[in-house]
Order: sequence, then C-alpha cells, then structure tokens
Amino acid sequence: MPDAAGRLDELRREAEAAVRSASSTAELEDLRVRYLGRKSELTGVLRGIGELPPEERGPVGQAANAARSAMESALAERIAALDASELDERLAADRIDVTLPGDPPPHPGRLHLITQTRREIEDVFVGLGFSVVEGPEIEFDYYNFTALNFLPDHPARAMQDTFYVSDDVLLRTHTSPLQVRTMEVQPPPVYAIMPGRVYRRDSDATHTPMFNQVEGLAVDEDITLGDLQGVLLEFARAIFGQEREIRLRSSYFPFTEPSVEADVSCFQCGGSGALPDGSRDPLCKGSGWLEILGAGMVDPNVYGFVADNGYDPERVQGFAFGMGIERIAMLRHGVPDLRMFFDNDLRFLEQFP
Ligand SMILES: [Zn+2]
Repeated sequence: MPDAAGRLDELRREAEAAVRSASSTAELEDLRVRYLGRKSELTGVLRGIGELPPEERGPVGQAANAARSAMESALAERIAALDASELDERLAADRIDVTLPGDPPPHPGRLHLITQTRREIEDVFVGLGFSVVEGPEIEFDYYNFTALNFLPDHPARAMQDTFYVSDDVLLRTHTSPLQVRTMEVQPPPVYAIMPGRVYRRDSDATHTPMFNQVEGLAVDEDITLGDLQGVLLEFARAIFGQEREIRLRSSYFPFTEPSVEADVSCFQCGGSGALPDGSRDPLCKGSGWLEILGAGMVDPNVYGFVADNGYDPERVQGFAFGMGIERIAMLRHGVPDLRMFFDNDLRFLEQFP
C-alpha cells in the first residue's frame, strides 16, 4: 500500500529530524509521546491494520513496525548523548575548587579588653619562663591572710575588707593566696604568675567590688631585688614600650620584706611630666611616673608556712608582685573610669577589637 507506506516513511523522517534537533531530554520525552505515544499517528496506523484488506495488512504492518523501531532507536541514541552532555554540564557547574579559601565564619565577637590585657601580660611572663597558675576565688582566711603573715588582728586586714562566706571562708581579696598554695604543691624553684578575679568592698571610679589581678612569684637560690627590678623592666617595656624605665619606691605589705611600689616612666610625656605644648601631663599628674604595681622580697615568715616542702629561708629567696589588670588597661588605653569595663556598653567595648 504505497500511500500508507509513504506516510509512514514521512513520519519516520520527520521524527528523526525532530529528535536530532532536540536539545534536552525533556524535549525528547515530548517527541516520544508525539510520535510513539498512545495517541500518535503511528499507533493509530498499527491499530487500524486489522481493518485493512488482508493483502495490505502484511506490508503496512511491516512498514509501521520498521518505522517504530527506527524512531525508538533514534530516540534512544539521542537520549544517551544528551544524558551524557547534561551530566557533563552539571558536573562542570557543580565543580568545587578546593584550592579556593573557605568562607570565613561570621565574626563571633571579640575578647573583652580585660581578657586581651590579661593574655598579653601572661604572654610576657611566659616568655620569661614563668608558668600560669590559677586557684579558687572563694578562699580560706588561712591562705588569704594568715599564711601571708597577716596576724589575726593585723590592721592591714581592715584595708582589704571583703565578703565573708563564713568566719574563715571569704571571697579572696587578692591573688596572693596562690603564693602559699603554689609553694605547698611545688618545691623550689618556682616561677609562676597567678591571674584571676578578686573581691573587695570598694566602689568608686577607680575601685570596683570585683576586679582582676596578676600575682607573680619567683623563688630560687640567689634571687635578689635586682632580679625583681629586671623582670619588671622587661614587663614594663613589653606592655608600655621599649623606652620605658622602672622605679622602685619603699612601701609596706605584710608578706614581703622589703616591700616596694613599682612605677613605670610615663609613656605619654616620655617621663618629663610635660606635654609638647608645655602643659602638665594629666596622665602622670606632671610627675613623669605611673604607679603600676606592688612588690617585694618574700617575707621569711611566709616560707615558715611551707618549710616542709623545702622552703628554707636560709637557702632560698624570692620576690613577689601583684598588679591590677584593669589598672594596666586603663593606663594603656586612657580609660577614665574603671566601671566602664563592667557596664557592658558595646560602644565602649567595640573600641578594642
Ligand atoms: Zn606623663
């Protein structure tokens, strides 16, 4: 039947051309439905074969089946080709360049200036061979006062009035209790700093009920006041600048003998006490010096509390010092009121990234 065979041939060529020019697997699926689906012309031809005159059924059936398998293989071939190129495209689009730097995580915040300052101080002393030791903030009277040579009725106790938990347990007033605690567990030599929070009853522009100190302790044979001065000079230059000098003045603490106050030459006026315009430097009040800490040689009476652990005052000597971290930060950054450290005002805190 030339008409039907001609039409089938035409359909096959049309379908093959459409399949060749299809550019996606979705388009091919549409073509499959159009040329081979239940409502397609080809399916109609195959369904109608039974109604044809018997002599036409064979040739039309053969021609229809040939057209169908030609279209099916054209589709299959094109699907395979498009699948491969679509996969290639997806792989190219999804490719991860492992040599690129990762996305930085959102900034989680910043360290508080007191924490920054504490860490800087720790770095200086660790560089000088000191280790870092911590201890309890709720302390026995024994470590806070008695073992530091504060006798029970010593007036210096009143200067450090604090919060008592019970008659002999209190919030420590300084980091000095860690001197005896450290010597109890470690025989000489000892080179340690002890940072942490301390508590007193004061509250004004330069005192808060809670503040931070760093204690220092060095005990060894042949330690002198000169060693203390050298260590403090290294510290002052690392924190306040290489031009700084240190000055020791006589003072008094129950647990050091002799005791000193250490001053660092003023970094704002260079020690002259005057600003470039000739006016008095308000930072050092014209003196050229800034008080930074209290210190001294460890009192032999303190060694008496740890004599069993090898602390014989005839054989070992040592120095101790204690500084306020807030004071160091205030001096360095010109912070006028200590309470600003604890107000949690972001406009203040964000100035110290
Ligand atoms: Zn000055």
